[in-house]
Amino acid sequence: MSNPLLQQPELPTFGAIKPADVEPAIDELLRRNRAAITALCSDSDNPDWGSLVAPLEQLNDELASAWSPVSHMNSVVNNDELRQAYNACLPKLSQYWTELGQNQQLFRAFGQLSGKAETLDGPQRKVIENTLRDFRLSGIALPPERQQRYAELQQQLSLLTTRFSENVLDATNAWSLLITDEARLAGLPAMALAGARQAAEARQQQGWLFTLDFPSYFAVVTHADDRALRHALYRAYMTRASDLGADAKWDNSQLINDILVLRHELAQLLGFANYAEYSLATKMAESPEQVVGFLEDLAGRTRAVAQQEFQELRDYAREQHGLDELQAWDVPYYSEKLKQARYEVSQETLRPYFPMPRVLDGLFRVAGKLFDIEIEEVTEFDRWHADARLFNVNRNGELLARFYLDPYARDNKRGGAWMDTCRIRRRLPSGELQLPVAYLVCNFTPAVGKDPALLTHDEVTTLFHEFGHGLHHMLTQIECAEVSGINGVAWDAVELPSQFMENWCWEPEALALISGHYQTGDVLPAALLEKMLAAKNFQSAMFMVRQLELSLFDFCLHRDFEPGVTNVQQLLDDVRARVSVVPLPDFNRFQHSFSHIFAGGYAAGYYSYKWAEVLSADAFSRFEEEGIFSPRAGADFRHQILEMGGSREPMELFVAFRGREPRVDALLRHAGIAA
Ligand SMILES: [Zn+2]
Repeated sequence: MSNPLLQQPELPTFGAIKPADVEPAIDELLRRNRAAITALCSDSDNPDWGSLVAPLEQLNDELASAWSPVSHMNSVVNNDELRQAYNACLPKLSQYWTELGQNQQLFRAFGQLSGKAETLDGPQRKVIENTLRDFRLSGIALPPERQQRYAELQQQLSLLTTRFSENVLDATNAWSLLITDEARLAGLPAMALAGARQAAEARQQQGWLFTLDFPSYFAVVTHADDRALRHALYRAYMTRASDLGADAKWDNSQLINDILVLRHELAQLLGFANYAEYSLATKMAESPEQVVGFLEDLAGRTRAVAQQEFQELRDYAREQHGLDELQAWDVPYYSEKLKQARYEVSQETLRPYFPMPRVLDGLFRVAGKLFDIEIEEVTEFDRWHADARLFNVNRNGELLARFYLDPYARDNKRGGAWMDTCRIRRRLPSGELQLPVAYLVCNFTPAVGKDPALLTHDEVTTLFHEFGHGLHHMLTQIECAEVSGINGVAWDAVELPSQFMENWCWEPEALALISGHYQTGDVLPAALLEKMLAAKNFQSAMFMVRQLELSLFDFCLHRDFEPGVTNVQQLLDDVRARVSVVPLPDFNRFQHSFSHIFAGGYAAGYYSYKWAEVLSADAFSRFEEEGIFSPRAGADFRHQILEMGGSREPMELFVAFRGREPRVDALLRHAGIAA
C-alpha cells in the first residue's frame, strides 16, 4: 500500500521512489489493467467513446504516470539498482503493449466505433483513426504464429536498443584522462579548466581530469592547443562503444547488426518492403523516394558551398598556422580560430552575457509575449536531485501547465538535452482536467564556485529548443490523451515548435531580454551582437552536409539493409563519399554511439530534423514579415499549431498557420546558403 508509484499523486514523489518499488508497482498496474481491459472487451457489443475509449485512456494514463518518473530517474540519476529494476520492467511493458495491439476484440470495437463518426468530435475521430492504423502496424491482421513472432521481435528490440544505449553510457563514463602537466592545457578557457579541476577533485585526484561528457570533450577539441590532447579526446569519443573502444564488452558492432536484422524482419512481417517504409507509415513524409529526394536536393544545393568553406579552413590552417594536413580533430579547433579571426567572437567570450538566471527570465518573457503566458517558479516540491527546479505556466492567473528543469551535466546522467512528458493534458472520468507536466533536461556546464552558470550561445539555443517542445506539450488545448500535446504528432513534424523557438536566440529584440553580463548586468553589446550575427552562418553549409550525411545514412541503411549482405561501415562510407566534405580517419566509429537511431525513436527518421527545419524556418518567416513579437502571428501559432497537438494532420495545421504549403527558401536563406 505504501508504494509511491501506486499513489498517482498530481506530481510524482521522486524522493520517495525506491528501486524496490518499481517492479511491484508495474506488475500490479499491468495486472489491474489486464483485468479491466478483459472486462471492457466482454462488454463492448455497442461501444461508444465513454464506454470504450475513455476507460482505456484512463488505464493507460495511470500506467504512464507511474512509469514516467521511473524512466526519467533512470535517465538523470542512474544507478545499478534502478537500472536493474527499469530493465526488468521493459519486457513486461513491451509485452503489455504488444498484447493490446493484438487484442482482436478491441480492434473490432474500435472498428465499430469508427462507423459512428457522427458521435465523435474531431480529436476523437483522429484518435480512432490513429488507433486503427497502429492496430494494423502491430500485426493484428497476421495469423497467430506470426503474431507470436511479432511479439518476440518487439521484445528483443526493446532489450537490444536499451543495451546499445547502456554501452554508450558505460563507455562514456569509463574513460577519463588526467593531466598533471599544466603546459598541456594551453588554449583551454578558464571555465573548462575549472571544470576539469573540479572533476579531478571529485575523484580525489591532483590535476585536471577530462572526460567524454560533452562539455569536457567539446572544450578540448575546440580549444586545446595541444594537438595530441585533441587527438586523444577525439579518438576516445569517436570510438566509444565500438570494436576500437576501451573495452570489448561495450562494443556495439554486433548489436547494430542484430537490431537491423530484427527491424528488417519486423517490417517484412507487416508487409513492408523494408524498415524505412514501415517508419513512414506514421510520418508526414509520404514515401522513401520523397525523403531521399528531399535530402539529396538539399545536399545538391549545399555541397559546393560546404566544399568551399572547408577549403577556406584548410587554407587558413596552412597559411596562418603552418598546418599541412588538417585532420578531423583539428577541424573544430581551427574553425574556432578562423571564426575568431574573422568575427572576433567565440562561444567563450559570449558566456559572461548569458548567466542562467537572466537567460531563463528572458526565455520566459519571450514566450510570454508570444503566447500570452506567465511563468513562475515553485520552490517547495519533491525533487530527484538538488539541481531540479519546478515552474508553473499561467495565463491570467490560471494554471495551464507545469514543467521541471534539470539543467546541468553530472555523473550518472544521460548526455544531451530533451523534453519528456510527466503528465498529459486530458479530461478525467471525474470531469476534471488533468494539466500537462513536462521534464526539460539539459547538460549544461554547471556553475563553478559562487558565480552563476554561464551558458554558451549554443546552450542558450538548446534551452530554447527544448522549451519549444515543452510549449507544444504544455499549451495544448486537446483533452484526448492520444492526440494531446506532442502525442500523436508525426515524428517529422514534432521538431517544428522546438526549432521554431531557436530563432529568437538570434533576434536583437529578443537578445536584449535574454542577455545580461553576470557582473555588470549589461546586455550583449551591439558590436558583439553584430559580430555574432555575422558569425551565425559561419560554416553553415558544412554543418548542413553533416546533418544530411547522418540523415541519409540512417534512411538508406533502413531502406537498403539486407541481412548478411549489408556492410554498415561501407554504406556509411558511401554516403560520406557522396555528401560530406571533411575527410574522416579510418578509426571513426560514430555510428556506434548514434543512439538516436539505434536506441531512440529516430530509426529511418533522423531526416525529420531537416524536414521540420524547413517547416520551422518557413513558419518563422511569417514573423520576419509581421514582426518577431507580432501578437497576431504569435496567437495564430499558438492556436493553429501548439494548441492542436496531434489532433489534425501536420500539413493541414501548417497551411492553416502559414496560408500555404511549406517552401525550402527560408531555410536556405537563414543559413546564408542561398539569397
Ligand atoms: Zn528536438
